[in-house]
Amino acid sequence: MILGCHVNFTNEQLLGSTKLALEYGANTFMFYTGAPQNTIRKEIDSELTKEAHKLMQENNIKLENIICHAPYIINLANNTISDKWDFSINFLKQEINRCEKLGIKYIVLHPGSAVGLDLNIALQNIIDALNIIIKDDSKVMILLETMAGKGTECGKNLEEIKYILEHVNSKNIGVCLDTCHLNDAGYKMDDFDNFLNQFEELIGIDKIHCVHLNDSKNPLNSHKDRHENIGFGTIGFANLVKVLNHEKLKDVPKILETPYIEEYPPYKLEIINLKNNKFNPNLSTDLKELYK
Ligand code: FE
Ligand code: FE
Ligand code: ZN
Repeated sequence: MILGCHVNFTNEQLLGSTKLALEYGANTFMFYTGAPQNTIRKEIDSELTKEAHKLMQENNIKLENIICHAPYIINLANNTISDKWDFSINFLKQEINRCEKLGIKYIVLHPGSAVGLDLNIALQNIIDALNIIIKDDSKVMILLETMAGKGTECGKNLEEIKYILEHVNSKNIGVCLDTCHLNDAGYKMDDFDNFLNQFEELIGIDKIHCVHLNDSKNPLNSHKDRHENIGFGTIGFANLVKVLNHEKLKDVPKILETPYIEEYPPYKLEIINLKNNKFNPNLSTDLKELYK
């Protein structure tokens, strides 16, 4: 089982993220190279990176399972303000560069939002941008995340993801599933086998390199994108355990992006519950006990 959660990239950079992941009992993790909402970034420190790699090795965390996430404000879909589109492209290039320095193999990207553009034009903009950014010989692979379809988000169904993948010249691109987003986009997570069959037919399961394991606050097809703690949402504990343990995705890292309960990170307890396949309805009380 490769299971972890998103963690901060602290002043100690990747080393700090690794320490947090270990505290939570995770054997993988996902990080942003700075705040997800902005593009202020520090130079990657090679000493801290070395120490992080060493700490991972000592604790059986495989570097190839660690995921980076690009900031939300990158939008490759809309080029009406060409400076902004260029900025997104250049920033993503720099993120890939930072991943290379950190030894990270995968970076998750939200495909983008059309904001006023026709869907087909928006998809073409994403394709054009990715064709500028992606290099065949790069050690870093961009993973397009399946989106909830909130507002004008692209990538809200498998057809759109397939269309982008087909028109990007390089094969150095993959997919990240997000169970909350899939539910909100109208894919039933209580029939995950059926979903995977559909995915296999359209895109190919071998393209999946990360799963965001989240419950959802909202019903099927709601297009909302509000994550819920595991077992407390509309997808439910048993269905998420099935995704986590699915034979066809056993080598794919699963990342929790569930919300804090008050100021407490839920990940340590959620990871225990998922590993034991035992839903704990007292998560909130137990968290307060744990961190008091
Ligand atoms: Fe995401
Ligand atoms: Fe996600
Ligand atoms: Zn989300």
